[in-house]
Amino acid sequence: MAGIDIKEMLSTYDKNNLTIATVCSHSSLQIFNGAKKERFKTLGISVGEVKKFYDAFPLGKPDEFFIVDNYKDIVKYAEELKEKNVIVIPHGSFVEYLGPKNFMKLGLPTFGNRNVLIWESDREMERKWLEGAGIIMPQAIKKPKDIDRPVIVKYHGAKGGKGFFVAKTYEEFEKRVKKNKSYIIQEFVMGTRYYLHYFYSPIQDNAYKLSKGSLQLISMDRRDETTIDEVQRLGSIAELEELGIHPTFVVTGNIPIVMRESLLPKVFKMGEAVVEESLQLFGGVIGSFCLETVVTEDLEFKVFEISARIVAGTNPYVSGSPYSELIQPDLSTGRRIAQEIKYANKKKLLEEILS
Ligand code: AMP
Repeated sequence: MAGIDIKEMLSTYDKNNLTIATVCSHSSLQIFNGAKKERFKTLGISVGEVKKFYDAFPLGKPDEFFIVDNYKDIVKYAEELKEKNVIVIPHGSFVEYLGPKNFMKLGLPTFGNRNVLIWESDREMERKWLEGAGIIMPQAIKKPKDIDRPVIVKYHGAKGGKGFFVAKTYEEFEKRVKKNKSYIIQEFVMGTRYYLHYFYSPIQDNAYKLSKGSLQLISMDRRDETTIDEVQRLGSIAELEELGIHPTFVVTGNIPIVMRESLLPKVFKMGEAVVEESLQLFGGVIGSFCLETVVTEDLEFKVFEISARIVAGTNPYVSGSPYSELIQPDLSTGRRIAQEIKYANKKKLLEEILS
């Protein structure tokens, strides 16, 4: 990363006085709550004003707010935030609001490996990484004329599934596609969705062992997506499409879920392969990451996306999940992140988990 030297950034820090900071959105309540449980100070970066709803959740409210006019301004305030010994926990909205370029040059110690963004934000690079790890992804359909099964069309840069559509034939695709936007066409995988929340520590060996460090499964969720998940209340999708009503894939919430226990070995094998490949490619996907999967009727996993930081799907588990309870009671992903920072600090290994 150009111009970012983690050693230098940390050199002025009072290590006995670290503050965990994130942007007030997405999974911030969980991140602040987890940090407080591990006795960190917390700071919430908010645009324009202190968000009033935090008053209703004292255990998820940051100790201090840092108000900016615009998220993109965070880069400008790096020096001021450094004086507060801030370690940033990036979540999906943090990266989106700041913009990937600003995120890459943000002069603040940031949890995880920022280089992952290069592999995660470009669909071709993402495919190279995941398929290189032996992961099965939905088939990509290069030419619309080759559509011979149900497909999902995804626009580049679309947020939270906005604008995505399903087509069953080439003709249907032609009718619906917005030609002025760039898109990819992917086989629509029939099955049930599981969003798997992993945590990879390169510095601790107390979980599922990898070539370096170890892997945990903290929780899993299923996203609630409007209108696809409830559209059938009005009639069959085919019926509605005839009326010009098409289902959409906009995420509105997250539902807790557990998986058949017999599938867990596959879950760990996939996580292991993704981490090992990432170590080879760019130094590792450090901390939380999520594989977004569909399990087919043959009990095969197809991974349609990776999210390389804390996902909002971890939010149902502020006080632990059926999996994290078997690691430590009351363990959320937010708390696990805080623990990793605490452990690394104690062992003088912060540079291994921050970038
Ligand atoms: P994404 O932005 O890639 O996470 O996709 C948004 C939503 O579309 C997902 O949460 C799934 O519900 C659905 N989806 C994405 N890709 C596929 C696929 N290949 N097959 C079936 N459903 C998919």
